[in-house]
Parts: sequence; structure tokens; C-alpha cells
Amino acid sequence: MLAQEQIEGLEHIARMLKEAKSSLVLTGAGISTESGIPDFRSPGSGLWQNLDPMTVLTRQALWDKPEKFYFKGFAPFLRYLNAMPNSAHQTVAWLEEQGLITGVITQNIDGLHQKAGSQRVWEIHGNLTQGHCMKCRRRYPIRFIEDALAAEVLPICTECNNLVRPNVTLFGDTMPNDFWQAQVAADRSDFMLIIGSSLEVSPANTLPRRAKRQAIINLTVTASDQEGWLVVTGKAGLLLSTLKQLLQTNCRRN
Ligand code: NAD
Repeated sequence: MLAQEQIEGLEHIARMLKEAKSSLVLTGAGISTESGIPDFRSPGSGLWQNLDPMTVLTRQALWDKPEKFYFKGFAPFLRYLNAMPNSAHQTVAWLEEQGLITGVITQNIDGLHQKAGSQRVWEIHGNLTQGHCMKCRRRYPIRFIEDALAAEVLPICTECNNLVRPNVTLFGDTMPNDFWQAQVAADRSDFMLIIGSSLEVSPANTLPRRAKRQAIINLTVTASDQEGWLVVTGKAGLLLSTLKQLLQTNCRRN
């Protein structure tokens, strides 16, 4: 059951989506918590409580302490390769199908937007499909890393004996092409809807300001709540399902 304030916020978002010529969604780890994947910053999520991802999931940690990087920082993500999209991911895919957004920029590496049917997805922090050798750059399927970790050894390149790393963007890495493309798309957009992100990770958190208007759907306070953007507080699954219901009358663009 939603409060009046939440419903009014969603009605406002529905209006902005209909009015904008070009809208985007930006998602963070919070959109996937209802699929069973913990985020980094929600209190009590367990996984990251005794571990600071900013120190373990870094480029430096991968070089200096690969065992700690892989077995403490990265291995938990592999458990979520079989996760399924929830109603928030499905609504984001539906928004694209209806022509109400041009695509989704995601900080997530879980692939759940594609599983839900989203077509245009900018994965600005990479994904969990592949890895590559840090020296000769030979590519490996993620299964290669999974198998090594399951056998409690590091993934080592079969060509040159160097460490294989996942194709995800670590703190300290340069940003992938998808980020720069997302930046161009953001510059062209009239409206950006941010879902499930603390907006603390840079440079992802610079993207919303590039759009003309912004709204946030998030469970807790974000780093941008003081920007004066519309904020609707609550769980993405229920809020997005309700947004879909509100839009279902007469929303098709094409
Ligand atoms: P974050 O952990 O910093 O913030 C997540 C936000 O989502 C929090 O503010 C939390 O209150 C909110 N949230 C949690 N559950 C929610 C729900 N059901 N509905 C609405 N909001 C909810 O995540 P971030 O901003 O994405 O930044 C962390 C970095 O961690 C990102 O770079 C991301 O790549 C990575 N990460 C990815 C995954 C994933 O792929 N699923 C999981 C954990 C972390």
C-alpha cells in the first residue's frame, strides 16, 4: 500500500516521461536487491558488512592481493549469475518497449536488464560474461574464472601464465566505451529516472546532471537528494509496478 506522497511522486514521473522527447533510466545495485543480490550500502545486507568494497574490489587490490580480491571481493558476485529479474527490471524493459525511454544506463554487472528484455543497455561498469588475461589480453568466458575459484585457485592464463581478470570496471580502472556513449546519450536527454543508486560512485553519479530533468526512486537517502530533484522513497519493485499502471492509460508513443 503506497502513501499519497509516493503516488503523487509517481504521477509526476509519469508526466515527465510522457512530456520528454528523450528519457533515460539509470540504475544501481538497489534495483537488483529484490532479485536477491545485495547492494553495497544498504544496512544489514550482510555481504558487504565486514568488507569495504572500495578497498577489496579495486584495480590495486587485484594487483597486490589477488587472493583477497577474488575470494573475498569478487567470488560473491558469481553466486548471483542465476538471479532472475524482478518487476522493476521488467517495468524498465516495458518503458523502452513503449517508446517512453531510449534505454537504460546501468552500474550493475548482473545482466538482469537484458534478462528482463531491455534492448539498449549501457553497462558502464562492465558485466559478468567474460574475463581477459592482464598481460596478453586473451579472452576467457566467465566460466573459466568460476571453475578456478571453485577449485580454490586463481584464474591463470593458459597462454602466458599471468592473472586473468573479469571484464568488470573496478575502482581505479578507466571507464569503458559504454560509459562515454552513455554520457552522450545523457547530454541528449530531457529526463533521467534514477532507480536504486546511492549516487555515491563517481563518475556514474555525474550522468544525471547532464539530463535536463531528473527524478530518483530509492529506498534511502541518496547523495543527490539535496539537488532539488523529485525523490520518491520506497522499494523499486512496487513503485515501478505502480508507475506502469499509471502509464498504461494512453501512454504508447509509437
Ligand atoms: P549502492 O549499494 O551504493 O546503493 C544502492 C541503493 O539502492 C541504496 O541507496 C539503497 O537504499 C537502495 N536500495 C536498496 N534496495 C532497494 C530497493 N528494493 N528499491 C529501491 N532502492 C533500493 O549501489 P550503487 O549506487 O549501484 O553503487 C555501488 C556499485 O556497486 C555500483 O558500481 C555497482 O556496479 C556495484 N554493485 C553492483 C551489483 C549488481 O550488479 N547487482 C551489486 C552490488 C554492487
